[in-house]
Amino acid sequence: MYTYSKTLPVIATPDVLVCGAGLAGIGAAVAAARAGASTLLVERMGFAGGFFTAIIGSAFDGFVDERTGAPVVGGIVFEMLERMGVIQPGQGPHLHYNVNGDLSFVEMHPERVIPRCDPERFKRAADEILSEAGVQILYHSQVADVIARDGRVETVLVSNKAGLVAIQPKVVIDCTGDGDVAAWAGAAYEKADPLQPMSLHFRLAYLQPSYEMRRRCAAVLQAAQQRGEIGLYGGPYPATFSGRDVYFNATRFPGDSTDPDDWTAAEIQGRKDAWKMYELWKAELPEFADAYFMASGPTAGARESRRIVGEYVLTGDDVAEGRRHDDNVVLGAWRLDRHPPKESGYHTIPWTPPYHIPYRTLLPQALENLLVAGRCHSATSEALASSRVTATAMGMGQAAGIAAALAVQSRRSPREIDISQMQSQIVAAGGILELPDGVDVAVGDPKW
Ligand SMILES: Cc1cc2nc3c(=O)[nH]c(=O)nc-3n(C[C@H](O)[C@H](O)[C@H](O)COP(=O)(O)OP(=O)(O)OC[C@H]3O[C@@H](n4cnc5c(N)ncnc54)[C@H](O)[C@@H]3O)c2cc1C
Repeated sequence: MYTYSKTLPVIATPDVLVCGAGLAGIGAAVAAARAGASTLLVERMGFAGGFFTAIIGSAFDGFVDERTGAPVVGGIVFEMLERMGVIQPGQGPHLHYNVNGDLSFVEMHPERVIPRCDPERFKRAADEILSEAGVQILYHSQVADVIARDGRVETVLVSNKAGLVAIQPKVVIDCTGDGDVAAWAGAAYEKADPLQPMSLHFRLAYLQPSYEMRRRCAAVLQAAQQRGEIGLYGGPYPATFSGRDVYFNATRFPGDSTDPDDWTAAEIQGRKDAWKMYELWKAELPEFADAYFMASGPTAGARESRRIVGEYVLTGDDVAEGRRHDDNVVLGAWRLDRHPPKESGYHTIPWTPPYHIPYRTLLPQALENLLVAGRCHSATSEALASSRVTATAMGMGQAAGIAAALAVQSRRSPREIDISQMQSQIVAAGGILELPDGVDVAVGDPKW
């Protein structure tokens, strides 16, 4: 053991400190700042977006009711789509959207708008929306430890190129995905065993995606695995932003992102597997003749790690049955998409109706000035298979930001705020809280 003692500078005393600038963190910081709270956002990477941007390519799931294509998350989500040029200002609530840019969904509903989010456009849009809202941003700044006293987070220690520095906020919103702040403050949490696998996405240039190409890529991987040339893999799921390059969600590593050894191994194995897949496809498929390995990462991503135990734990039944809750803050709508950690190829992703996500899943037990949002919110592993995704995380973040500002302004703890006042503010900011009326439309399954 080693004991260390040092006097640190307190660099900020904001109303609201948001830790982590993933989809949840962007939503939280923008909403808190717009609601009048002085807001500081710390993020370990040099850009915002979390695994949405840090894995180089992702779909925008949880955004629509698959039956009708109607959006179920609004507010900042619409603004981001506007800023990326996917939709025109004001169009957000009125359009019908495809589930994502996945090839089989697009084939099923070619008439719907694809909410396609190129990571580079997304990074720029995130910088803009955060800056314009008045959020103070500190990139390259990692939360290193937390001092909690008497059920309150008192100080958050951050490591960056200035060394170790201290921040003393009134309210903290933990959007680190891994629940670092809450866990280090002593909050109860759970971790599934096994977790969903980690993945390193990669992007190939000079390649045109098609459903047939995906089928042929899958056959090559299956045969290579049977010959013992590759290990575990997922999908593969190719998707495109430009129509002339393809990113692949295909590597699969059964690790825990809160274990530094696992994450290191996920990067090394992920790069090895990504290059092997590229070389196999290039050798065997004529459409890969000109393909070029453009990029991977910059990091392998984690779909699931710590789930903080809150005042309510969202369950698989809540999701599968589309249940309502009085303290709803955002609608979830993505399928129960639990990537199997020990199997290769495609997995089943059962459809779910839109469902309520209660405010209580953002409130860790026994800590007064702390909220969590995004994939570390309070849910069973089964429920998180749906609620972990991008648009849902951003909606949770927006709600947490509004709640934090309300708590500061009313001099109450987040668990004491007026829920109906918070819900009115969410709706005023463009959020959607009402479940769509019963629609009886058959939902197709993706053709893996
Ligand atoms: C491989 C993979 C594929 C995915 N594919 C899809 C998909 O197709 N569609 C979809 O909708 N979603 C997908 N997701 C989920 C999605 O990318 C996000 O993980 C999800 O939206 C949850 O967002 P979040 O903001 O809660 O967490 P995260 O995205 O995990 O963001 C957390 C943020 O906190 C930062 N952070 C973490 N710890 C610290 C710390 N100690 N100090 C400072 N900063 C910290 C991180 O750098 C990150 O920016 C995928 C995830 C992975 C890993």
